[in-house]
Amino acid sequence: MIVGNVGLDSSARFAFQSHAHTDHFVSGEIIFATRPTKFLSHLRKGGFYREVRFGRRFYLGDFKARLYPAGHMLGSAGIKLWLDNGTVFYTGDTKWFRLRTAEKSRFPRADVLIIEATFGVPSFTFPSPREAEKRLVAFVEEALDRGKRPVLYVNQTGKAQEVMKILDVHGYTVKVPREALKVARVYSKFGVSFDNVSPDGDVVLRSHRSPRVENSLSPWELTVSGFGDLKLSNHADFWELMRIVEKVDPERVFTVYGFAREFARILRGLGYDARPLSRDSALRSADI
Ligand SMILES: [Zn+2]
Repeated sequence: MIVGNVGLDSSARFAFQSHAHTDHFVSGEIIFATRPTKFLSHLRKGGFYREVRFGRRFYLGDFKARLYPAGHMLGSAGIKLWLDNGTVFYTGDTKWFRLRTAEKSRFPRADVLIIEATFGVPSFTFPSPREAEKRLVAFVEEALDRGKRPVLYVNQTGKAQEVMKILDVHGYTVKVPREALKVARVYSKFGVSFDNVSPDGDVVLRSHRSPRVENSLSPWELTVSGFGDLKLSNHADFWELMRIVEKVDPERVFTVYGFAREFARILRGLGYDARPLSRDSALRSADI
């Protein structure tokens, strides 16, 4: 989105990039992001990044701004902007519950909320991360007890490191694809370290994009995703999104990504002034 003259996960002369997933990559004369987001993005792309710390006021184009941890992956951030006629908070991709490898999310009050809606319908109700972790560990134990090597399909940036950390905490070694290992090395620079990587690991991680080698009926393979078999998600589910809306307590809501139209409709039914936005929408200051 473009708000005034700045980009929020959109390319612009002054652009804010919320986190290091490729679908949020932007270009611009100056890209504002956290230090982990800059380092992780530089594994895949160039660009001049200005590092911003959580909680510190800075200017993004014409607007005063401040970043808040979004809880989606290491370094992920939401941003609050101070416009002439009110405040705007954009969540980026976000998570209410705390993950092991991301900063605990925080949500400020704002007059206008722009919220992701990847899982913005009530059928997306996930177990808490602690509950999902128990199921993951039970799955791994069961496979190993039967002499099978469990295979987990994961997004290599963010989810892979969360799963690696869970396995580390529970004493399992893991074989990791190259891309996920590069990302894990950056995580380690920021204090999230892994002591369980091994080429003959108890558990095998594979990219969620790679085809399942055994057929999909193999009971020892799992896709770890909000859309997959084991719903350990680094996105807010529907109920987490509702808690975020209540916490920000906005006068107007714009929904983006995923089920944006459906989520806006549900919010309108609850009395909110809510509308969907597309990712290339432009909002003028006067629209806020
Ligand atoms: Zn993301």
